[in-house]
Amino acid sequence: MHDPIPTVTLPGGVSVPALGLGTWQMGEVKARAGEEIDSLRLGLDLGMTLIDTAEMYGEGGAERVVGTALEDRRDEVFLVSKVYPWNASRAGTVAACEASLRRLKTDRLDLYLLHWRGEHPLADTVAAFEELKAAGKIGAWGVSNFDVADMEELFALPDGANCAANQVLYNLGQRGIEYDLLPWCRARGVAVMAYSPIEQGRLAHHPELIHIAKAYQATPAQVALAFLLRREGVIAIPKSSNLRRVRENRDAVDLQVTEDDWAALDAVFPAPEHKMPLAMI
Ligand code: NDP
Repeated sequence: MHDPIPTVTLPGGVSVPALGLGTWQMGEVKARAGEEIDSLRLGLDLGMTLIDTAEMYGEGGAERVVGTALEDRRDEVFLVSKVYPWNASRAGTVAACEASLRRLKTDRLDLYLLHWRGEHPLADTVAAFEELKAAGKIGAWGVSNFDVADMEELFALPDGANCAANQVLYNLGQRGIEYDLLPWCRARGVAVMAYSPIEQGRLAHHPELIHIAKAYQATPAQVALAFLLRREGVIAIPKSSNLRRVRENRDAVDLQVTEDDWAALDAVFPAPEHKMPLAMI
C-alpha cells in the first residue's frame, strides 16, 4: 500500500497532485517514443496525474508524445503546456495554444504558462490568456521563471492577479526562492511548480544524499523529491522515461525523513539568508 500523493489546491479551487510528470527531452528521438509513452502512462496509473509539457520540448515532439499517451485517458489528467515568449503576443498566444491543442489531440489545456519573459508586453499575454480561458481552451493560466519583481509587475496589471501558478527551478540544491518568491506566492495562493526537482538527475549522485537515503533504504532522488513534497503549495514535476525510475519517484511519497535528518541536509544544502536572483535553466 502506498501513501496517497498529497495535493495542491489552485486558486480556482481545482486540486492537483503535488507530484506530476515532466516531459522535457521527450519527443526528440522517434525510436524512444514508445518508452516515453509507456512511462507517462505508468505515471498516470500510479497517480501522478499532472503532466507538464511545452511547445518548446522537442519543438512540438513532446506534446505529440503526450497526445498519444493521453488518447484514451485525457480526462484523468491535469495538462499543462507553455508558450514560447516570442509567440506570446495577443494573437500569437492564441495561435500557439491552438497549435499545442492540435499536437496534444485535445480541446483544452488545464493550465497554460508563459515559459519565460520576453519582448511582448505582459498585458498582451494576459489578455490572450483571459481570452483563451473565456473560450474554454484553457482552464487557468500562469507563468514560469518569474521572480518577485516580475510577479509584482504582473499582479499590477488588469487580470494579472488571476495567475494560478509560477513554475521555477527549485530543488534541494537550489533553494533561493525560499527567501522571498516562495512566501510571496504562498501568501497569494499562487502554486509553485518546482522544475528540475532532481537537478536534472544530478542530485541522484550527491554523496550526502546517498548517505542519508541509505538509512531509509531509499534513493537520493527520493530524498530530493521528499524535500519538495513536504512543502505546502509546491508541485514537483520530475521527468523520467524509465519505468523503474517512474516507480521510484512515485514511491518518494512514502518516505518519512526525520527532522534530525532534514536538519543534517539543511547543513549541506543551506536555505538562503539573503535575496538571490532567481536561478534558471
Ligand atoms: P529532473 O530534475 O526532473 O531530472 C530529469 C533527469 O533525471 C532525467 O535525465 C531522468 O532520466 C533523470 N531521473 C529521473 N528520475 C530519476 C531517478 N529517480 N534517479 C535518477 N535519475 C532520475 O529535470 P528536468 O529538467 O527534466 O525537470 C523536470 C521537468 O520540469 C521537465 O521535464 C519539464 O517538464 C520542466 N522544466 C521546466 C522548465 C521551465 O523553464 N519552465 C525548465 C526545466 C524543466 P530518465 O528519463 O532516464 O529517468
